[in-house]
Formats: sequence, structure tokens, C-alpha cells
Amino acid sequence: MLAACLIAASVVSAQTQVIAHRGFHAKSGSFDNTISSLKNAQELGVYGSECDVNETSDGVLIVIHGLMHGKLNVQQTDYATLHAQALANGERIPTFDEYLEQAAKNTATKLIIEVKDHPTPERETRVVKKIVAAVKKHKLQNDVEYIAFRQHVCDEILKYAPKGTKVAYLNGSLTPEYCKGLGYTGIDYSLGTMKKHPEWIKQCHDLGMTVNVWTVNDTANLKWCIDQGVDYITTDNPVEANRLLGK
Ligand code: MG
Repeated sequence: MLAACLIAASVVSAQTQVIAHRGFHAKSGSFDNTISSLKNAQELGVYGSECDVNETSDGVLIVIHGLMHGKLNVQQTDYATLHAQALANGERIPTFDEYLEQAAKNTATKLIIEVKDHPTPERETRVVKKIVAAVKKHKLQNDVEYIAFRQHVCDEILKYAPKGTKVAYLNGSLTPEYCKGLGYTGIDYSLGTMKKHPEWIKQCHDLGMTVNVWTVNDTANLKWCIDQGVDYITTDNPVEANRLLGK
């Protein structure tokens, strides 16, 4: 019995996987959501590298976190204007296409695609369709997973991506059972939400869903997530997460 428990415990902890939040951007010379941050994550050998996708005013998908780039709202600015301005480390804002090219170079690290909110449901639908088509063009359907804060976006990903594609909800406002009913394959909630609702971890697992927690950076909280048996930890500190997992 004790042996069985020990095996079960080790299986649970072995399942926790590391996702580099916006790529491994903490590495010297990099910056979040850049080609170098994705490359660094691939070289580190983590399960996944997360990125944020926005659409420019002229319909180009780009990888950048914030709605604002300096004084420019990226969703209301054309690509050429955004491309003209270097990021803090000298790189340019990558297009999603360029990002997928880099992702295809090493598919051992999955690309975790966060589809950002856009101003209208119609535009969000268009963005989702373009993202799904780009992933298909690069033959990466089995090497990506999706996350989004907006229910409409998650619903549209489920509608347009191949059956079996992983889609997790980010907003923290829905119970696992409710997410399951919507067809989502997992929850991807903040550390604060999961500390309030640690029971959701078991509920998810009982429902066959995955649990991802963001954004967990310090040792104590990384340990908490591992001890709770979450499936994925999204972190700006993938080196420490790997160390705690014995990787
Ligand atoms: Mg993100």
C-alpha cells in the first residue's frame, strides 16, 4: 500500500510540466515574446513556450503582450509602423508567421498560443480563423495549445481548430465543471485563484481536464504548485521550476 502511494505521488509530481511565460525572456539579451525568447525556451528544453497574439490594424498577426507598444495601440496601428520601432533588446516585434517558423525548428517545445481579446466578437473570430490557418500552414497542429481570457475566443478556437486541440480558459471565473460543459480541455488560472480554489485541481483531474497555473515565479509557490500536482506551471523563471522538478 505504501509503495503504491509513493508511486502514485511520484507519478503526480512527474507530470508537472514547465511553460516559459512569453518565452524564456529572463535570459540575458532577450525580451518577452521575441524569437530569441522562444529559442531560449526551446534550448532550455521546457514543455511549452507561451506567446501572446494580437492583430494589427492592417490584419497582420504579431506576437506581443500588451495592447500598447510605447504610445501605439497595436490593434489600431499598421504593421509597418510597429515594425519600425525596435524592442528594448533591439529585436523587432515578430509576426506570428515568423514565430511559427521558429516553433517548427524544435517541436519538442510546444507553442502555447494566447489569443488576446480584440474589440469585437467578429474581429476575434477572424483572428482565431487566421491563427488556426497559420498553424495549419506550418503543419504545427499537434504542436500547439491555445489559451484565452475571453469565452468567445475559446469557443471559436474549439470550432475552427482540429478536433482534440487543447484549449484552456484563463479568466478564473468559471468552475471546472462549467468549463468542461463548454468543451474546454483545461483551466489556466492565476496563482491567486488556485489558492482560493485548490479543490478545483482534483475536480479538473476527475473531469479529465488539465490545470495550468500562472504566473508562478518564486520558489515557495513553484513548490506549492508541484505539491498540488498541477499539470502545468507557467513561469518567468523556468530554470528554477526545472531545478525543483529535478530536470
Ligand atoms: Mg500571455
